[in-house]
Amino acid sequence: MKSNAYLGLGGNIGKPVAAFKAALSLISDFASVISVSRLYRSTPFGYAEQPSFINAAAHLTTELKPFELLDALQKVEQDLGKRKVFENGPRAIDLDLLLFEQLVVKTERLVLPHPAILERDFVLRPLSDIDPGLTNPAWFGKTLEWALTNLQKKFITEEPEEWEYLK
Ligand code: ADP
Ligand code: MG
Repeated sequence: MKSNAYLGLGGNIGKPVAAFKAALSLISDFASVISVSRLYRSTPFGYAEQPSFINAAAHLTTELKPFELLDALQKVEQDLGKRKVFENGPRAIDLDLLLFEQLVVKTERLVLPHPAILERDFVLRPLSDIDPGLTNPAWFGKTLEWALTNLQKKFITEEPEEWEYLK
């Protein structure tokens, strides 16, 4: 049975959009890419002395289970040369599992829904492009649309770039 999963993509060194394309192509080996958000540019979170980030989100369907999907996404990151320099530092590609069906998971390796969704507009806004009605039991009935109008965090610095870049 196929599950719906939502992915956050980010990157700020090299050519992030090219890295997103390469990632989605590798991901299509183990998931169907149903839709992709627009692209956003955001100010770095946590550590300011680095290039701005490009962010996007994607809707996937997959036969994989959550931890299998995380394994597969981490392998794609490695294949595309992700090297974590330090916490919140620069990276060529970051693939975060944002939502997996209605699951709530709290383990060291996997936290669902991803906490950044409600904390950072550069995760929330691309995900809302895909479906502003998305919700999760951990949000007590609130939707992404509610979070968009009620959260005041501002990291996005520019209007969305054309999402056609990803095609
Ligand atoms: P960042 O927190 O900046 O995304 P990493 O991409 O290096 O940093 O991820 C750090 C760790 O976060 C990984 O070892 C991974 O197991 C864990 N993790 C927990 N929940 C998730 C999730 N929902 N999606 C992706 N990684 C997650
Ligand atoms: Mg990550």
